[in-house]
Amino acid sequence: MSTTLLKATDVGCRFGGVIALDRVDFEVAENEIVGLIGPNGSGKTTLLNVLSGIYKPTSGSLTIGGNDVRWPSSRILSKRYKLARTFQNIRLAPGLTVRDNVLIGMHSTFHWYDALRRGRSSREASARQAADEILEFVGIADKADHIATDLSYGDQRRVEISRALATSPKLLLLDEPAAGMNPREAASLVTLIRQIHAQRDLSIVVIEHNMNVVMNTASRVMVLDAGLCIAHGDPKTVSSDEQVLEAYLGK
Ligand code: ADP
Repeated sequence: MSTTLLKATDVGCRFGGVIALDRVDFEVAENEIVGLIGPNGSGKTTLLNVLSGIYKPTSGSLTIGGNDVRWPSSRILSKRYKLARTFQNIRLAPGLTVRDNVLIGMHSTFHWYDALRRGRSSREASARQAADEILEFVGIADKADHIATDLSYGDQRRVEISRALATSPKLLLLDEPAAGMNPREAASLVTLIRQIHAQRDLSIVVIEHNMNVVMNTASRVMVLDAGLCIAHGDPKTVSSDEQVLEAYLGK
């Protein structure tokens, strides 16, 4: 039987008159990949922002690992509950190498970043080795010394994923990781997500417009439309649901 890792109950989120999330229930089991789909403006990113402590919801509750979470800051959620995420718009540190971007993920404090610039210690050397192992795993080890923002779009996404993995998350939230990717890059992203899932002990929530990515990674999919959950289940069932076809695919 699967163990629940995260459970959001009856979550509402309003921005003035806009109801971004309307009493949404959302659950992630340990070692599960859940897909989150829906048309633009349906509330997907808002839900991810709520789960990662960026937005405080208007109503509802959240438990992670059986603990009641009082909507703390994203910092507490990432440290205490081991949540990591990537963003729809890539957010890499400009002017820094790929490796340094991953090291920042590992010890995301300015103090560490400063130390990184000053010199080497055994702690720095082992952090560097750990960063290189992640880059190897994600398939961009040969670009460790390149300036991250100079890389191709697909590789920048991989740096973001590497930086998130550097925090050893139990839950990885991916916000449109295939956005802007060509079909070849998207296919290799599917392989990467599957590898992360197979080799790391974690759960993944993936928001995606690219249905191939969702269908080939997630074992369960939730569909949002105008802040409401309109369907929920295995990818095949959800993709043939009349309401989903109407709302999401415009059929
Ligand atoms: P999606 O990720 O599915 O495209 P969003 O979660 O970004 O949808 O947005 C859902 C709704 O909430 C939209 O109507 C959007 O304009 C609104 N919204 C999201 N974030 C904010 C915000 N910070 N301020 C005001 N409105 C917001």
